[in-house]
Amino acid sequence: MSGNRITVTSALPYIHGVPHLGNMAGSVLPAELLHRYFDVRGKDSIFICGGDVHGTPLELEALELEEDPQDIKDEKTRKVKEAYESLNVDFTIFSDTHSEYNRKQTHEMFEELYCNGLIDEKTQIMPYCRDDERFLPDRYIEGECPHCGGLARGDQCDDCGKLVEPTEIENAECQICGGSRIEFEETDHLFLDLTKFDDELKEWLEEEKPVPENMLNQVRHDIEEAEERSITRDQNWGFEVPTERVNKRIDEENLELEKLDPEKYDEKVLYVWFDAPIGYIGFTREYFEEYRSNKKNASSSGSADEKWKKHWDTEG
Ligand SMILES: [Zn+2]
Ligand SMILES: [Zn+2]
Repeated sequence: MSGNRITVTSALPYIHGVPHLGNMAGSVLPAELLHRYFDVRGKDSIFICGGDVHGTPLELEALELEEDPQDIKDEKTRKVKEAYESLNVDFTIFSDTHSEYNRKQTHEMFEELYCNGLIDEKTQIMPYCRDDERFLPDRYIEGECPHCGGLARGDQCDDCGKLVEPTEIENAECQICGGSRIEFEETDHLFLDLTKFDDELKEWLEEEKPVPENMLNQVRHDIEEAEERSITRDQNWGFEVPTERVNKRIDEENLELEKLDPEKYDEKVLYVWFDAPIGYIGFTREYFEEYRSNKKNASSSGSADEKWKKHWDTEG
């Protein structure tokens, strides 16, 4: 929120399964109420939202049904949108995180982070299914939790909530073929270094007071605990790693950075954890560039691209 322009949003509904009243009451309804309140007050407010569509469950479902994840995503996003609209939720835009606009936004931000030295490549040891001849990231592997014997999925136990190393999972099963011919192999991934933002974030917290007092300690704690987080996965469903544009910029600006190996990253995608929060910006951009620019009086001042930047970036 900046000056008289207000962007309202809610947690992005996860597009897997049918939305229930809890999603509506817990996140979308409060945002809808706020949006309507601003409308009544005559404020320039938009309500942007969309489906969170990347991630393991949708890809697993597509593999099981032998369908294109894109088709499943389209169908489910449509249903979720219709369900909310049947309850009279007045989204200004409801998109999804696989949209072209979010791709553009995500790739721009990736390039900026990489070219500023904030993304590093590291080698990880990950489970690999010999029968499917592929890595098994996140929930692609399930088995017994080494701590409580409950159901461990990927790197977490659903029963005791503890973090689990995939190598520690007992009787591990591949969620694609159901087999257990699982080995652990090395694979390279890209990590976003969150530790480099500590000081700026803490300063911003003190000066701008963007969070309520009772949340402050939690946020401070999260900043202190922040570490390097991997933002790529050995998967097919997701946004491609933009190797070409990054390498081009490294050349053009003579940056002292390692280039990204296109062949290696061809087999990987950006992790949902990276592109989903960028969705809020991507949807706002989509609204301004796609919809508002088509309206009659949109040509009053500046291009659609300038308008979205003005809405999102500038003070006043
Ligand atoms: Zn457990
Ligand atoms: Zn398998």
